Amino acid sequence: MGFYVVMEECIFCRIVKGEIPSEKVFESDDFVVIRDVNPKVEGHMLVVSKEHFSDFVEMDVKLDGKMLGVVREVVGQEGFNDFNLVVNKGRVAGQVVGHFHLHILPRVENDGFSFGV
Ligand code: AMP
Ligand code: ZN
Repeated sequence: MGFYVVMEECIFCRIVKGEIPSEKVFESDDFVVIRDVNPKVEGHMLVVSKEHFSDFVEMDVKLDGKMLGVVREVVGQEGFNDFNLVVNKGRVAGQVVGHFHLHILPRVENDGFSFGV
C-alpha cells in the first residue's frame, strides 16, 4: 500500500462526507471548519479542504486565497482577537492526518500554550 491514500479510509474525507461525526463551525464551497477533537487550546479549530489533498503543498493553489478568506470569516464569527495559524506539513513537522488542514489556535492570557521557539 505504501503512501497510496485510500480516500474511503481518510478520516477527514469521512468527516467531510458526514460519515464520522464532527462539530462543524463553518462551511464554504471548498472548506469545512471543525472543532479539534483533542484541543491544544480552548476553541482549537481545523480548516479542512473538502477535496482530498495530502498536505498543504499538494492542495490546489487556487484554494490558497479562499482558505485565508475562510480563516478571516471564522475568526470574525467566533470573535477571536488573538490566535495562531499553524500548518503542519510532513511527518517531521508533526503532521499526523494526511489530508490538508490548517489549525486555528485562539489565544488568551496565560493559556499555557507555547511553540517553544
Ligand atoms: P496534525 O498533527 O496537523 O496532522 O493534526 C491533526 C489534528 O486532527 C490533531 O490536532 C487531532 O486532534 C485532530 N483530529 C484527529 N481526528 C479528529 C476528528 N475525528 N475530529 C476532529 N479532529 C480530529
Ligand atoms: Zn481525505
